[in-house]
Amino acid sequence: NIKKHFPLKNNQLFSKEKHVLKAVDGISFSVKKGETLGLVGESGCGKSTAGRVILKLLEASDGEILFKGNDITHVRGEEMRKLRKEMQIIFQDPYASLNPRKTIEQTIIEPMKIFNVPRNERNKKLERLLDVVGLQSHHKHRYPHEFSGGQRQRIGIARALALDPELVICDEPVSALDVSIQAQVINLMEDLQKEFDLTYIFIAHDLSVVHHISDRVLVMYLGEIVEIGDVHDVYQDAKHPYTQALLSAVPEADPHHEKKRIILQGDLPSPANPPQGCKFHTRCSLAEEVCRAEKPALKQVSTSGQMAACHFAKEVVG
Ligand code: SF4
Ligand code: MG
Repeated sequence: NIKKHFPLKNNQLFSKEKHVLKAVDGISFSVKKGETLGLVGESGCGKSTAGRVILKLLEASDGEILFKGNDITHVRGEEMRKLRKEMQIIFQDPYASLNPRKTIEQTIIEPMKIFNVPRNERNKKLERLLDVVGLQSHHKHRYPHEFSGGQRQRIGIARALALDPELVICDEPVSALDVSIQAQVINLMEDLQKEFDLTYIFIAHDLSVVHHISDRVLVMYLGEIVEIGDVHDVYQDAKHPYTQALLSAVPEADPHHEKKRIILQGDLPSPANPPQGCKFHTRCSLAEEVCRAEKPALKQVSTSGQMAACHFAKEVVG
């Protein structure tokens, strides 16, 4: 039941009520060891905030975070430092996340230094990481600007893996890259997952990429989960109108297979002032009176455990 609310300072002149931006508003889900959970939704739906709260880069306003069975919601200090080793993040923009004044060697070795990994072990690990992400060892004295976007993301990935994490949150790791490079980096991430036994939470707005890499997928809208389930179930038979609209916009590889494009009406409402009832009702073509009045609960909608939050999705028990 994770919440992340940001207080808003303006508006105080107009109202005595405290205004908050409900970036994440009560989401519950689990990730199994070794799987990839895709997190999708339009920008501004709370995906990145959710990822940062799970990693404790941002403090949750409410709710609990369990990691390997332990409640880490309030872990701090030295205990948190140890936990850092096990949870890492790969950022969207490798240009911005690498220090331009550090060589590749310094960049990848830095986390190991912080954790006092002995020098010879550090160097061995560096060579192995360069090798597995496909960078040449003799390039390690170069600086980030001397590499292409795809190579820079490989450096970011190597750095994230330096401390042998178990959970890696990938925040739009390929969306800043050329399409031709995206597949290479995605394939690399899949290989690394097997080799290092990694668990991924893969945040993206590109549904084709998420389809390819994920075992399960979670769809967010305005800080809430609208649908979650096995990736094949959701992509073949989405039960929530928002998921259906997102999927209808994905280009089809087969030109003979035409699908009906569902156009989302209007813009994404502000998370500071979300609609009442079902938050999606202002853009949903199926909305009825009940949608404006009552918030739909997330309920099971298939025997395989797919869940959706829509008044008109048929509940399936068992
Ligand atoms: Fe649309 Fe109503 Fe379902 Fe919300 S509850 S997704 S508004 S039909
Ligand atoms: Mg984001």
